[in-house]
Amino acid sequence: MNYNLAVIKGDGIGPEIVTVAMRVLDKVGEVYGHTFNYNEILMGGCSIDKYGDPLTDEAIEIAKSSDAVLLGSIGGNTATSPWYKLPPEKRPEAGLLKIRKSLGLFANLRPAYLYPELKDACPLKAEVAERGFDMMMMRELTGGLYFGERYTKEIDGVMTAVDTLTYNENEIRRIAIKGFDIAMKRRKKVTLIDKANVLDSSRLWRKVTEEVAKDYPEVEYGVMLVDNAAMQLVKDPAQFDVVLTENMFGDILSDEASQITGSIGMLPSASLNETKFGMYEPSGGSAPDIAGKNIANPIATVLSAAMMLRYSFDLDKEADAIENAVKKVLADGIRTIDIAKPGEPQVKCDEMGDLIIERIK
Ligand code: NAD
Repeated sequence: MNYNLAVIKGDGIGPEIVTVAMRVLDKVGEVYGHTFNYNEILMGGCSIDKYGDPLTDEAIEIAKSSDAVLLGSIGGNTATSPWYKLPPEKRPEAGLLKIRKSLGLFANLRPAYLYPELKDACPLKAEVAERGFDMMMMRELTGGLYFGERYTKEIDGVMTAVDTLTYNENEIRRIAIKGFDIAMKRRKKVTLIDKANVLDSSRLWRKVTEEVAKDYPEVEYGVMLVDNAAMQLVKDPAQFDVVLTENMFGDILSDEASQITGSIGMLPSASLNETKFGMYEPSGGSAPDIAGKNIANPIATVLSAAMMLRYSFDLDKEADAIENAVKKVLADGIRTIDIAKPGEPQVKCDEMGDLIIERIK
């Protein structure tokens, strides 16, 4: 098959890590008989430098007409870069918000997986780390508290701030369906996280998700209150498979889940719309402190490419091939600077790419 990808290398370490992911995709294409065509577009600081705009309308059109978007990372040092002297709507991050909105990306997926080889980096108790964990945090991205009406004003002589949390049943149903579809490709378990003992919006999430669950009899469905979920993530993360939740709870819990893996350079992510279309990117930022040194860990971006194969193109075998190659490099003791223990030898970003490519079968 032929796939057309919009590629946004972005700023900082972006070009280094995305180049590795493209080489890995080319190898997968060679082994499994696919062609990946890359259409590079600019976003973030590099687009500001060239066009005075963090994301042009032309770039959005290219992204829209592609089969999926592969993104590195955008932004610079927020304390020193001139990009952060610009008005907020002209800064690098405005490009990211604009592309998510233009592409209708409402479902954010962040796997949190503990590699046995990296379990020493896990900050949890040894016996918890020993059991390992492999979950998919699934966060609603375009509704809820962050997008509701908000204002601060004096009411009866007292300064009062109001934020509103709104969800309608359609917004909930479309992400619940995605969550169950993804569970079908995994261990077939969905846990809805909410605050249904207090919030009306959470009660609607429960009602709609329960309806969706009926269409997936093979999937084990459960609910958990968000305060309990925050505890369970550190106490017994192995119990979770797909964790489905609204925007703010997901914002907080997905950071907690990534922290317990102990290695940000290893974590991919995806943002999906109603179709199979998605944008795939590492969870970390542009790491300006190590940019241009060829020492960044490209694994999160490589695994983002694997997610693209699995969730946008249904190429499960090919995605497995990438994920297995990553597991093998780790099992073989190959480490970049961020995951090496003191005294362990370290490989460069492009070498890590070569060693993953060698292991793709
Ligand atoms: P960061 O994730 O870029 O860096 C935090 C630390 O992790 C740094 O020490 C960095 O060297 C290290 N790190 C991150 N990715 C790594 C990798 N692949 N390999 C090895 N080490 C890695 O976070 P930050 O410093 O807070 O942000 C830097 C810039 O990135 C800011 O402009 C921020 O706005 C932007 N940012 C962009 C995205 C995105 O593009 N989606 C996400 C988060 C932050």
